[in-house]
Order: sequence, then C-alpha cells, then structure tokens
Amino acid sequence: MTISEQMGQGPEAGSRRERLVELYREASGCTRCPLSETRTRVVFGSGNADADLMFIGEGPGSEEDRQGLPFVGRAGAVLTDLLDEIGLSREDVWISNVVRCRPPGNRDPQPLEVESCQPYTYGQIQLIEPRVIGTLGNFATRLLTSSRTPISRVRGTPQAHTLAGRPVFLMPLFHPAAALRTPSLLETLREDFRKLPDLLNEPLPEGAARESATAAAVAGAAADHRGADQLDLFGG
Ligand code: URA
Repeated sequence: MTISEQMGQGPEAGSRRERLVELYREASGCTRCPLSETRTRVVFGSGNADADLMFIGEGPGSEEDRQGLPFVGRAGAVLTDLLDEIGLSREDVWISNVVRCRPPGNRDPQPLEVESCQPYTYGQIQLIEPRVIGTLGNFATRLLTSSRTPISRVRGTPQAHTLAGRPVFLMPLFHPAAALRTPSLLETLREDFRKLPDLLNEPLPEGAARESATAAAVAGAAADHRGADQLDLFGG
C-alpha cells in the first residue's frame, strides 16, 4: 500500500517527518497525470513538517520546476517578504500547491491534474495538521473553499472548513503574483497577512460541517476557472 493510500486510514506508526519524507519519495516518481511528462522536477512542497500555518498556491512556475521548490521565483520573493513582515520565515510554515508539476506555459491546472495531486495535498494536510491554510490566489481559494466566489470578495476573511478530514481555518489571500502585476494589492496582502498571527491562536473550528475539495468540487472549481533536495527543508 502506498503512503498516500494509507493516509486515508487514520494515524499510523512513525513520525510525522518520516512519513512526510515517504510521501515525498512517492510524489517524486509520480506519473498519475500527464504533467509528469513535461515537468523537470516534482515540486512537493517545503518548509516545517510541524507548521501550524500552511500556504497552498496554484502550481509551480518555471523557476519552481527548475529548482523543485515552491514559490522561489518573483512571486515567492513577495511571499517571503510578507512572512517576514509578520515575524515568520519560510522555515516556520509549510508551502505547497494544488498541483506539484508545472502546467506547460503556466496554464491553469486541469481537473484531472488537480484530482491526481489531491492525495499529496490531503496527505500533507493530514500529516502536518495545520491550524490555518492560506489559499494563495483565485484558483486555490475556489478549489479549497468549494466556492465560485471570486477571491476579491472573500479575501482576508477566514472560513471554518473540514479539509482532508481535519478542522482548519482557510484564509483566502490574493496570489503574491497579483501584487507584482498590481502594486496596490501589496497593501491588501499585507493587511490580510497581519491577521494570520491572531488567527493561529483561535480555537480550531471543531465541527465545521463542510468537507471541501471533493472530487466534484475539484472538477467544478478547476473547470470554472478555465476562461536541491527538499528533504532538509521539512524541519523537524
Ligand atoms: N505560483 C504558484 O502558484 N506556485 C508556485 O509555487 C509559484 C508560483
């Protein structure tokens, strides 16, 4: 049984970090979707395996594909600065994407690709057990909140959800790349990031009824949207 199959079966023996490394190894050779044919490297995710705060973006760009690490291009520099401004570093959080292989030409991920990557996304959430997940940009936000409401209407207001069987606050955030295109959005991003430290101290939303990002939601949100070695970065 693969580690991503075991993940749906509740807690298992072994430390969080070891199991995350196992999941990384499994993802590294993944051929579940056609993106495996065009990628340079799988961008599994990086950061602290014990993080309370996770960020999920859309998918790797060219620099991420080259380095095998998430958010290491220009948008990544904005993310690093935003974290720094609230007293956090990349080593304090976990950073990942809804797909782990670069969509050619940076097109939106397709439903099959998102669904194929879901065991890794869910596996990371189940292992890391974040309290807060910042969804970066429209695509990740619509997908993980199972809603078609645009990011501009939901950003900055946390939502209680059950994701991968775990209660979590989702915090919709503009994508850092949006601040590169529209500099005035940087202030909005700053404002929303400043809410994260307090949110991390809120009691977890036990009993949040909605289980987001079912296969149907994956298909719906994605369709609606159309129109180094990482191991030493896992902390622990
Ligand atoms: N944009 C994303 O959504 N993810 C990355 O890793 C880089 C840029």
